[in-house]
Amino acid sequence: MGDDTAPKRHFIQQIIDADIASGKWGPPGERSVVATRFPPEPNGYLHIGHAKSICLNSGLASEFGGRFFLRFDDTNPAKEEQEYVDSIVRDVAWLGARWEGRSDADPLAGVRFASDYFGQMYDWAVELIEKGLAYVDAQSADDIKAQRGTVTKPGTPSPFRDRPIAESLDEFDRMRRGEYADASRVLRAKIDMASPNMHLRDPVMYRVVNTPHHRTGSDWHIYPMYDWAHGLEDSIEGITHSICTLEFEEHRPLYDWFIDAINKDRGPGSKWGEPIHHPQQIEFARFVIDSTVMSKRHMKRLAEEALDGWDDPRLWTISGLRRRGFTPESVRHCVLDGGVTKFNAVVPMSRLENALRDDLNKRAPRRMGVLDPIKVTITNWGDHGDEARLEDLEAVNNPEDDAAGTRTVRFGKTIWIEREDFMEDPPKKFFRLGPGREVRLRAAFWVTCHDYVKNDAGEVVELLCTYDPETRGGGNPPPDPEGNVRKVKGTIHWVGDADAVSAEVRLFDRIFGVEKPGKATGDPMDDLNPDSLTIMKDAKLERALAEPTPDEPSWPDGIRRFQFERLGYFCEDAEASRAAGKLVFNRAVTLRDSWAKQSSKG
Ligand code: ATP
Ligand code: MG
Repeated sequence: MGDDTAPKRHFIQQIIDADIASGKWGPPGERSVVATRFPPEPNGYLHIGHAKSICLNSGLASEFGGRFFLRFDDTNPAKEEQEYVDSIVRDVAWLGARWEGRSDADPLAGVRFASDYFGQMYDWAVELIEKGLAYVDAQSADDIKAQRGTVTKPGTPSPFRDRPIAESLDEFDRMRRGEYADASRVLRAKIDMASPNMHLRDPVMYRVVNTPHHRTGSDWHIYPMYDWAHGLEDSIEGITHSICTLEFEEHRPLYDWFIDAINKDRGPGSKWGEPIHHPQQIEFARFVIDSTVMSKRHMKRLAEEALDGWDDPRLWTISGLRRRGFTPESVRHCVLDGGVTKFNAVVPMSRLENALRDDLNKRAPRRMGVLDPIKVTITNWGDHGDEARLEDLEAVNNPEDDAAGTRTVRFGKTIWIEREDFMEDPPKKFFRLGPGREVRLRAAFWVTCHDYVKNDAGEVVELLCTYDPETRGGGNPPPDPEGNVRKVKGTIHWVGDADAVSAEVRLFDRIFGVEKPGKATGDPMDDLNPDSLTIMKDAKLERALAEPTPDEPSWPDGIRRFQFERLGYFCEDAEASRAAGKLVFNRAVTLRDSWAKQSSKG
């Protein structure tokens, strides 16, 4: 008590603390006193905002020793597809959420579907009709809408509102059996056409849809509306804290009304049975990233029209972030780091990228890769031994982690460096190669450029350098006879030709070039950044990137991640490699924030 050093608990944790203290959901210690869920609709891929909901809900369940459910809200047969179900299950698992019944043997083990509850929901709807709390309306959707009224003007009651209960029961049964055309009948709750809360003006509970459903086929010809179904799904699963985003705040009175209507006249000895569980809904602010669009409609267009599918590494879908090289830990850290509040705030993309840098800086082994190679010939290689010899040098795997050890990189007469690490006429502060300039090759030797070769087009195609055998390993050479110490300012990366592996490396930039896509024309697609993808087709990578060394760390998701010296963090894109028939790497993030002002590169 009164411990100021304890980290502040966010408002949902505080609600749960209080509920446990008061015994609201039963005796403390029972698993059932905290039950949460993630309820996606299978109509698209999950994005970084969903990751917040997943990490929050599953995190609370594990923090309090409770239960977490993964449940598909598959109440709309027209929009839902198995592909989405599969991708969502994979993403939730990848984030590390442990739902009830999860098993590594069967991806769908334990996964719930709202469609499993259609029978139960139907029975409850019949009960509401029998209690005089719901009726079948045969008006058109337009008429119903016209009668809703406005915030200042009460709605007009439907002519069907007071029809006999028996008539509604019969109509509802016919709706279910497929006797009616789509949208020709609805079941409505009989609440209050004058309520200041528009959601309570006799909302629709069921509509006729004759489209087959991806799981229940043609069993049903009516489908529950989200507002009717959602709270009931929570009730069936015994959800205690039903956590959702702020826009559902004004639906909460309706969810409460539905449960209360079912519980009306229930209790000991009642023909309806015992009252059903009444979850508590808690709303929090969405997680939104700047310079993005996060609605499913726009993301679907991006995925299908502008990009390489929903898992395009430029996209902020969970599958896109995974393919880009993000770790589940960095995503989880980023979405929970800012806390949980009721205030909408836009998070800069750099927060996500920094979370990844922090994680990979500690864990990713260092390697060398040259994305835009230019050949370097060491002209004095033969002066110090056999011209064809290769020298194995030790390179440190991770300066942040001594246990990561070293690996060998192979040096010889021909090596490759980055084209941009040479200038014919460099300014003074260019601490890389130029005529007469000396530079350190990481973990290898100091080399001096004394000449270069151009092709007919006038492009530099080869550098001629000498090396200093005294600098083996990269350390300083001994002082000259007068005691002068030679120094170099720059260290650059390289790959020896003897063990260079050819690869394709993909570099990414923001999909949108502006902070608020679509602001000018109304269509975000007008703000696409045409340079969001750069493909380096002829990169040269050190051998250890193609053939894993025995000490390479293993990643639980099987994705190999590295820091390429000076260039950023990269991951192997196994699927793209298979498709391209050669090694493909993706850059997850540069070493520093590329949108922050570029400081001079060393
Ligand atoms: P839509 O309902 O328009 O299809 P949606 O993004 O709400 O899109 P759902 O599948 O309904 O998708 O979302 C599943 C859960 O994820 C919901 O509980 C929702 O509140 C939560 N969620 C969605 N977007 C965000 C976000 N940006 N931040 C936090 N939680 C989110
Ligand atoms: Mg939704």
